[in-house]
Amino acid sequence: MSTDTVFSRIVRGEVPARIVYQDEDVTAFHDISPVAPIHVLIVPNKALRTLNDAGPEDQALLGKLLLTAQQLAREMGFAEAGYRIVINCNAQGGQTVYHLHLHLLSGRRMTWPPG
Ligand code: AMP
Repeated sequence: MSTDTVFSRIVRGEVPARIVYQDEDVTAFHDISPVAPIHVLIVPNKALRTLNDAGPEDQALLGKLLLTAQQLAREMGFAEAGYRIVINCNAQGGQTVYHLHLHLLSGRRMTWPPG
């Protein structure tokens, strides 16, 4: 199954996005349709379709996604106020773009449980 989604094209610079961070492993950019005042997506540059497709060889990469979120929360000034991290997996999880990504949400009080 193809893993070449719009997120791979953003990683490669072929589709415009408001990129907030990029290195050799991960890319972070503002969500085009934010559900919170701050809504950043953090994706591995390598195209994994879903969290289910990650294996032991991706352990460091998965950790880096979280540490990138933590670093961005600090740099963007909302680490202490708080934030939420979400990974949607497959249809029932609400995933719509099949390139693994982490949602970093902040700027308002989050509700629980999610809808
Ligand atoms: P998910 O439902 O977890 O797969 O989330 C996909 C997210 O990608 C949604 O929040 C969309 O608004 C966002 N999105 C889709 N296309 C783009 C794009 N070209 N640039 C930025 N965000 C996008």
